[in-house]
Amino acid sequence: MYHLKLGAAALFAAAVSALLPAAAETTVLTNVTVIDGTGAAAMPNSAIVMTGGKITFVGPVAALKAPKDAKVEDMSGKFVMPGIIDAHVHIGMMHDVTQDEKYETPENVNTDLKQYAAYGVTTVQVLGTDKDFVLDLRNQQRKTRPTMARVFSAGQGAVINGGYGGLVGVTIPISTPEEGRKLVDEQAAKGVDFIKLWVDDERKTIPVKMPPAVSAAIIDEAHKKHLRAVAHIFYLDDAKELVREGIDGFGHMVRDQAVDAELLDMMKAKGVWMVSSTLSREMAYSLAIMPWLNDPFFTRGVTPGTLEALRGPAREKAVVLGPTRFPGLPYEKKVFWDMDRTVFQALENYQAMVKAGVNTGMGTDSGPNGRFPGFNAHEELQMEVMAGRSPMDAITSATSDNARWLGDKSIGSIEAGKWADLVVLEKNPLDDIRNTETIAAVYIAGNSVPTIWQTCRDRPASACTGGSSTAPPGMPY
Ligand SMILES: [Zn+2]
Repeated sequence: MYHLKLGAAALFAAAVSALLPAAAETTVLTNVTVIDGTGAAAMPNSAIVMTGGKITFVGPVAALKAPKDAKVEDMSGKFVMPGIIDAHVHIGMMHDVTQDEKYETPENVNTDLKQYAAYGVTTVQVLGTDKDFVLDLRNQQRKTRPTMARVFSAGQGAVINGGYGGLVGVTIPISTPEEGRKLVDEQAAKGVDFIKLWVDDERKTIPVKMPPAVSAAIIDEAHKKHLRAVAHIFYLDDAKELVREGIDGFGHMVRDQAVDAELLDMMKAKGVWMVSSTLSREMAYSLAIMPWLNDPFFTRGVTPGTLEALRGPAREKAVVLGPTRFPGLPYEKKVFWDMDRTVFQALENYQAMVKAGVNTGMGTDSGPNGRFPGFNAHEELQMEVMAGRSPMDAITSATSDNARWLGDKSIGSIEAGKWADLVVLEKNPLDDIRNTETIAAVYIAGNSVPTIWQTCRDRPASACTGGSSTAPPGMPY
């Protein structure tokens, strides 16, 4: 009887709350330094007011007017920046170090999206490996105030038959320009945000590469459907050809040789974006021993099985000796030996694009083997700084610049009217970009979500060490 009464009371409460519109609750973060994501100077002694998930005020504490019932969080000494946007990820495709489409379940996707959020990555653009349920999830998110990273989706990308790219079992390879157009039409009908295509032959290890007639048809059809097209590339010549065909953005840096004035001029003239330079991706593959394997900021975000595989001598041996195809590595040694050169070429070309004034976003290609959801976004910011950008510019690339690429005016900066997607930090990221790891709180649409310092993948949080105020220095650059 007791249980019955309790159940009835709970049911009644649920019914009442379903009838009432969600109260537009107000939370105030006060005494913070605001780095608003636009590149404007940091504003100390500031306050941010969030009502119903949106920012309603940002400015000096002295000018703060908040409703009486507002929840006030005194965050003296802390720093607030917009939630990070990672413009190149893949979600829900791994179990430990094994990649397979069977792992792309709603449960795994949710786990990844929560993990991105925990690392302060409040929006992700998934480039071409989504099952259809991800679009449903995205549609649901857009009707509400999400508690995990927001999704932009390119649905299922275009891979040439027998060529590089995609996710076996999810992407359906094409062979002709007509099939390319049909694929774009199908994706457009599903409501994708972008069209993704892969143009690569994996350093000439695969005899097939998407021919220009096919990529041109895909890009043309995407534009007819008012969608922008973003391409996986490796070679300078392919980048130029794709720009001529009208590509809107690149999902990787040119990595076979130095970019030249011709490409830079073409990209600038047509407003083509380097959406994601994936510098952290190239770096991960050039390291025999990953220097972050004992860093709690990293270990909290990976499964014990992943850690074991990455720490094991088999991985090191595979990187140094090859040609083993070890599960923790994406390549056989015949390709892998070239990764050192690749990471430096990518860094050099990133510098050249920034210097030339090409539109640059921030993206990591996290999700597949060796690239870690959330963690890699911080590595990427550090590598942007290593390549010569200021911490302010790195933060801007990952926030307002990426929002501009996505074409979403409701996210990417801390301004009145935008969603309250925020990362609160213990230490100043403008002093040292590695301080983006000192995550004290994360908000998505005003919802406080667990940070990486409060969670631990596949095990209780108590099983993990470290904390936001003792965050380690990150990558030794
Ligand atoms: Zn990718």
